[in-house]
Amino acid sequence: MRKIAVYPGSFDPLTYGHLDVIKRSLEIFDKVIVAVIEHPHKSALFTLEERVGMLKATTKSFKNVKVDGFRGLLVNYVKAKRTNIVIRGLRAISDFEYELQMVLMNRRLNNSIDTIFLMPDERYSYLSSGLVKEIVAAGGKADKFVPEVVEKALHRKFDIINKTKYLTSDKI
Ligand code: ADP
Repeated sequence: MRKIAVYPGSFDPLTYGHLDVIKRSLEIFDKVIVAVIEHPHKSALFTLEERVGMLKATTKSFKNVKVDGFRGLLVNYVKAKRTNIVIRGLRAISDFEYELQMVLMNRRLNNSIDTIFLMPDERYSYLSSGLVKEIVAAGGKADKFVPEVVEKALHRKFDIINKTKYLTSDKI
């Protein structure tokens, strides 16, 4: 039987840290479904379609990766994919508390689902989508942290946001 794992997350946007976790998962599982979450109450910089598109472009040469988007409960999504394994990345102790809470809550919702944690290469252990967004928003370069397609998309996004800001302040 093929072992399938679901790697869920916001991926807003994808970083080399996420990619490191995907590559490590492929060493363990036959197929990895990268599942991009659409949070109903959490606003993202990139739309679900943009986040899925960047992941697809970056992983297109990986044979056993599928990129998908989903809304709703993770446990229901995982069950629908006919697996019981979730992958999450663990960077530092600061990730631990939130991740433990999620694992235990998901277990209450569906006892058959388990989460496997993978630690990225230490180069990426301080890297987060949030920090990358702050760097580019402040005019910095993110090429060491994200693939080219993501860096271009970030610059485009912040150009639009900054232009809108100037237009708005001109009118005042
Ligand atoms: P979420 O909002 O679900 O936490 P993220 O896109 O921030 O979504 O993260 C998705 C998963 O990837 C989480 O398990 C997170 O810990 C992990 N992750 C994020 N950045 C890194 C990184 N630099 N190295 C390893 N794992 C990471």
